[in-house]
Amino acid sequence: MLLEIQDIHVHYGKIAALKGITLEVDEGEIVTLIGANGAGKTTTLKTISGLRPLTSGRVRFNGDDISRMPGHKRVLVGIGQSPEGRGIFPGMTVEDNLYMGAYARSGDLSKELAEVYELFPRLAERKTQAGGTMSGGEQQMLAIGRALMARPKVLLLDEPSMGLAPKLVQQIFSIIVEINRRGTTVLLVEQNAQQALQIANRAYVLETGHVVKSAQAHALLDDPEVRAAYLGGG
Ligand code: ATP
Repeated sequence: MLLEIQDIHVHYGKIAALKGITLEVDEGEIVTLIGANGAGKTTTLKTISGLRPLTSGRVRFNGDDISRMPGHKRVLVGIGQSPEGRGIFPGMTVEDNLYMGAYARSGDLSKELAEVYELFPRLAERKTQAGGTMSGGEQQMLAIGRALMARPKVLLLDEPSMGLAPKLVQQIFSIIVEINRRGTTVLLVEQNAQQALQIANRAYVLETGHVVKSAQAHALLDDPEVRAAYLGGG
């Protein structure tokens, strides 16, 4: 198992956001977390990347307990995150934003840069443009590209389709599939449950800080409760 989260509890002050989440991601998979607003999806990703401390429980990566490892070290062991809201550096060029994704690594990054530009030709066209002047969809691509620069073993994606026009949503989902096909494991948080379940191998449904269901993604597409609650149908 590449990533294992065992019975994690996470609090914001006195508020319990995660109340015993257990989940696993195997090498090569796309796993998606779906659930309503406030269910704890973002908090789960932040706990894996080290941006939120655990109250209790354990995060294991590649067999090692990384529960107390600082976030910047988790990038080095292979955990990459493209955060919700993108968080790019608006005044820096597209290319410098990409280099920031690999700031903790030394050596020649030309291969990584070439691969990101191959996945996202738009970023190559705009490499000297200030990140903050890129469109919403382009900034989303930039955030994902930046995370890829560190060559993560697992890529954590928080709402990559948020705020994008339908055509761009399709494009982002296709790129996620391609990133996975090239060897990166993906843990994907999405409001767009329909599309996420179509590209994922497995899925977990979160409600108020708990996992209430886990299954093969295709099985959840046909699950009446999931359809009613998250797929806008009966
Ligand atoms: P969304 O789809 O709306 O992003 P989510 O499933 O990602 O929701 P989280 O953002 O993980 O949910 O939030 C889980 C719970 O923790 C919510 O009740 C939320 O209000 C609370 N929470 C999140 N961030 C903070 C914070 N900085 N301070 C206090 N409470 C927080």
